[in-house]
Amino acid sequence: MTEENNQYRVLLYYKYVTIEHPEAFSKHHLKACHELGLKGRILVAKEGINGTVSGTVEQTNAYIDMMKNDKRFSDMVFKIDETNGHAFKKMHVRPRNEIVTLKLEDDLNPNEITGKYLEPKAFFEAMQAEDTVVIDARNDYEYDIGHFRGAIRPDVEAFRDLPDWIREHKDQLSGKKILTYCTGGIRCEKFSGWLVREGFEDVSQLHGGIVTYGKDPEVQGELWDGQCYVFDERISVPINQKEHTIVGKDYFTGESCERYVNCANPECDKRFMTTEENEHKYLRSCSDECRTHPDNLYVKENGLTDEAWQERLQKITIDA
Ligand SMILES: [Zn+2]
Repeated sequence: MTEENNQYRVLLYYKYVTIEHPEAFSKHHLKACHELGLKGRILVAKEGINGTVSGTVEQTNAYIDMMKNDKRFSDMVFKIDETNGHAFKKMHVRPRNEIVTLKLEDDLNPNEITGKYLEPKAFFEAMQAEDTVVIDARNDYEYDIGHFRGAIRPDVEAFRDLPDWIREHKDQLSGKKILTYCTGGIRCEKFSGWLVREGFEDVSQLHGGIVTYGKDPEVQGELWDGQCYVFDERISVPINQKEHTIVGKDYFTGESCERYVNCANPECDKRFMTTEENEHKYLRSCSDECRTHPDNLYVKENGLTDEAWQERLQKITIDA
């Protein structure tokens, strides 16, 4: 990549620290972000801040300086990715009850209880030790495009369902060394703390998350298979600098693939992986019902007449 088209950056950051008035803070913060020209998504709660923003090198540096001047955030870690344009369309700062939705019956403060922090090298070694289980603390669709080799994929659709899943699989996990990881580290702060509180004795978390692991000069993302799902327009980023294995599978044919699209039926919007070829063949729709939906976006984008639409549907039936 030349310097010219690489002058944007994405910042990923969070901190569990008391923010007294999340509503008022959000309003002022949004104004400041607009003035700097940033785009992105920031969640603010009494328990802290969680953000991803994109902007030019100048804009993102100005933001980092602004945050470092506030003593609540002076030691906040910013993960920086270079990119070639904004990674978001708009700028949102939203007050919330939590900066990551776990909705525990009995909430916890990661500053008081959390798993041990492992730096990338230590995590790399711990993953390969005996009696160890590695639990992916993310959603299923994040796991499906890339994960640590051998990591457990809890069968949950959202982070808030993880505690129930753990309780149901307690026999498999007790007595083991437990390692958890997530994209930037924020989800593991509470999740590993919850595991400790549940009575698991040896719980560690990947400090700085997958994105930090991928940039670590020593491990260079080793033992990561596939890509890392991210919550911006890039959709996924590479992690393993030593080898690239594809673990994603095409929704229709099961062939190797690491390309997410959303179902063209706006009422469905299901996220699935598919090759460019199959995206066209199946009208980027997850089912017959979605393919024939009157508001199908693929049909609109491609200006298909009713006749052409029918022909394409028939071809799918014949091929099947
Ligand atoms: Zn669908």
